[in-house]
Amino acid sequence: MRARRAFAMPPEQPVIDDAAIITDKGVICEVGRFADLRTAFSGTVTDLGDVTLAPGLINAHSHLELCHLRGRTIPDKGFMVWVEDLLRQPIFDLPEEELAKASRELKRTGTVMVADIATRFPKRMAGFLEESGFFFVVFTEAIGEAVPEHGFIPEGDYDHGVGAVAGHSLYTTHVDVLRAAKAESSSRGLPFSIHLAEHDDEVAIMAGEPSPFLELLQGRGRLLDFEPPRKAPVRQAADLGILDASTLCVHCVKVSQGDIETIRQSGASVCLCPRSNEFIGVGRAPWEKICEAGINTCLGTDSLASNHDLDLWNEAAYFKERYQGGLSLAETLAMLTSNPARILGVGDTLGSLAPGKAAVWSVIPDSFQELFDE
Ligand SMILES: [Zn+2]
Repeated sequence: MRARRAFAMPPEQPVIDDAAIITDKGVICEVGRFADLRTAFSGTVTDLGDVTLAPGLINAHSHLELCHLRGRTIPDKGFMVWVEDLLRQPIFDLPEEELAKASRELKRTGTVMVADIATRFPKRMAGFLEESGFFFVVFTEAIGEAVPEHGFIPEGDYDHGVGAVAGHSLYTTHVDVLRAAKAESSSRGLPFSIHLAEHDDEVAIMAGEPSPFLELLQGRGRLLDFEPPRKAPVRQAADLGILDASTLCVHCVKVSQGDIETIRQSGASVCLCPRSNEFIGVGRAPWEKICEAGINTCLGTDSLASNHDLDLWNEAAYFKERYQGGLSLAETLAMLTSNPARILGVGDTLGSLAPGKAAVWSVIPDSFQELFDE
């Protein structure tokens, strides 16, 4: 493959002009300048032309189970209104054609891997992603009070992905269930994920303050014996022992500087979902403080029940346009490639264009690159 330019992303060689990627049987053999490599290798040359390549993109947080709800939920009214409406939606009726549409959209926009949260159909979602040619982690979502007798993660052997387990949240998942889920995850060397500090109701519920959302849950027979820890969400997560280098904390909208320091010290990663937070109306995470702390930070679209599309370029453009301060193209690309590859345990396969990695890549849209022109 030849292209005008490539952001290969290994630290020592971030940008290559007149780039070539040599591949064999789905694996990258060499990456460098076309002029240097053309004589060293024989084979068919595909010239991709006047484009800039980047590593294949990784969506660090999605719920493809909800992909049929695009345009059907209530935006801008806060978490309570959004979730009450969501619970009235046909969340169990996921049509095949909507999944196929999501797959086409992900592929068209350069996504090669998804870290997907599956609440209802983990085996179906893993099977779908495997058949569709994606790399994946499908996190079975642990929610409620019961620890399953035979573990959280369904059996399944896949070529391009793994099953894992995620906690839904600190308040909808019992502390014993969270500890058991994290223990199963750690014992199998898997990444763990949890929605953390997403909205004000979560902060209030943790603090033991009145919350309309807690009333809603208790009205549905949930959390009837919930004991508030009277701590901030991040403090509670740390005290439960679920924050470490294998944990991906999703959202982190309601975090203090002290919380950010707690996350950093734990070695956990953060997945920001900027457009989902705006869609639901929960506020904006302190992106700059999280990034400047040196935390391994990723981006995710979240579900189509709280976003307009699954296009990570749109997610990153939204982020870049509102980010206060300097943010380079390489730093932004890292949030879509090498950073999620690290926390998801696929750094050997994805995250950069380098020998030995999978022969997959994305094309950076011109309109996206222009956001970084001085
Ligand atoms: Zn989510």
